[in-house]
Amino acid sequence: MIRELHNKLVAGEITAVDLAEKYLKTIEEKDGELGAYLTTMKESALKEAKIVDEKIQRGEKIDLLAGIPGAIKDNICIAGVRTTAGSKILDNYIAPYDATVIQKLKASGAVFLGKTNLDEFAMGSSTENSAYQKTKNPLDITRVPGGSSGGSAAAVAGGEAVWALGSDTGGSIRQPASFCGLVGLKPTYGRVSRYGLIAMASSFDQIGPFGTTVEDVAIVFSRLVGHDGMDATSAESGNNKPFEEYLTSDITGLTIGVPKEYLSENLDPRVRKVTDEALERFKKLGANVKEISFSYSKYALPVYYIIVLSEISSNLARFDGIKYGLSVNDDKDSFTNTTTLLETYLDTRRVGLGEEVKRRIMLGTYVLSAGYYDAYYLKAQKVRALIKKDFENAFKDVDMVFSPTTPEPAFRFGAKVDDPLMMYLSDIYTVTANLAGVPALSFPMGTINEDGKDLPIGGQLMGKWFDEETLLRTADAFERSYNQEKTEQ
Ligand code: GLN
Repeated sequence: MIRELHNKLVAGEITAVDLAEKYLKTIEEKDGELGAYLTTMKESALKEAKIVDEKIQRGEKIDLLAGIPGAIKDNICIAGVRTTAGSKILDNYIAPYDATVIQKLKASGAVFLGKTNLDEFAMGSSTENSAYQKTKNPLDITRVPGGSSGGSAAAVAGGEAVWALGSDTGGSIRQPASFCGLVGLKPTYGRVSRYGLIAMASSFDQIGPFGTTVEDVAIVFSRLVGHDGMDATSAESGNNKPFEEYLTSDITGLTIGVPKEYLSENLDPRVRKVTDEALERFKKLGANVKEISFSYSKYALPVYYIIVLSEISSNLARFDGIKYGLSVNDDKDSFTNTTTLLETYLDTRRVGLGEEVKRRIMLGTYVLSAGYYDAYYLKAQKVRALIKKDFENAFKDVDMVFSPTTPEPAFRFGAKVDDPLMMYLSDIYTVTANLAGVPALSFPMGTINEDGKDLPIGGQLMGKWFDEETLLRTADAFERSYNQEKTEQ
């Protein structure tokens, strides 16, 4: 889609301003119902688009992404724009600087339509934890779009943006991509700068793109990667190659591993069927499929929720009513003893933070406390190392690991929101990649019929560290073959 639009822009068949206006109009018409956006950026979007049009008129070469309108998850900072992270505690927070990914996209000439809804501080799997609004799944508005990047996914799936950025700590790009029939990529840890991303769990978080095709995701991803001195965990990941130029469709001889633990008898038979069909397609395309074992997979979810909650309790300590956003009681004079500093901290956090965020801060603080650190946190870190070993061993024999992205298609509003453990189980296949730091991509692998509706479900490819290229190439080959078959039917 991006390449097509780019060609039209360059050929003068459309202008970037028209394109931006068209998407802004769709937002105006549809977003009252979908609730994908928290903030729209009409004025700056049109300005950005105009600059691109002027370049084209002058005969200058423009980047593939120039003039193409996208949406940004509202935990990524854009200078001068309200950035809430889905929380009341940042309700009035205006970001003073651009995240590195925003700087990079601005340099490409990308157009930003607005900031999208998310679970508060990216904690959740349905976007129901946002302090602001519910986002609906554009494919069936009685269902959730997934989370935590549900707004970004709904914007793209609902035709309110061409592409979008999300963040993924344990599945928040891949799970909504699966629920909304999109492609979503969580890059290798360290490959995309986290500078300007409001931290959830710093050793897990990565920013990545959503798109309607693998090529679109490759185009946006290529413009995000690179070392950044502002992020201490940023990696030197070699040349910034244009990944979209490497989608050759040739996957002959590649070996795809399937962990036997993932296809156990607990797997929904409908998901099993779609997964088996996807594996058949990979074989038809010339890849080999091999059973492997992830011996520590049953610990992935508990280990994830111990370490992530610990990092959350530490990262969110900064929201104290003094440095950022909301401050309850700040009109009172602490020197007159009407309000103590501690009261300001406590009141601000009590009013400003939602239930799920508080639950995680409390559990994380407990796990890190002196008496329990060794028993929980330290042990979880050791098991995290073993989970990474599972991948190292697998990659001796296989090029990628395949699984469903989610254990089921999009669920209905309210189905899990009162039962945190049920909600956490939605992440069973996705958290492993963040624990190990490997790249992982979700793409539409088939549909499941529920109540007379065909709902999409994603397949997940997890790759070797810094080998996004193979994931993109494989998913692209799948997508072409799948779409071709559909048009022939
Ligand atoms: N759903 C997972 C969680 O709640 C993942 C969130 C994310 O990736 N940001 O922790």
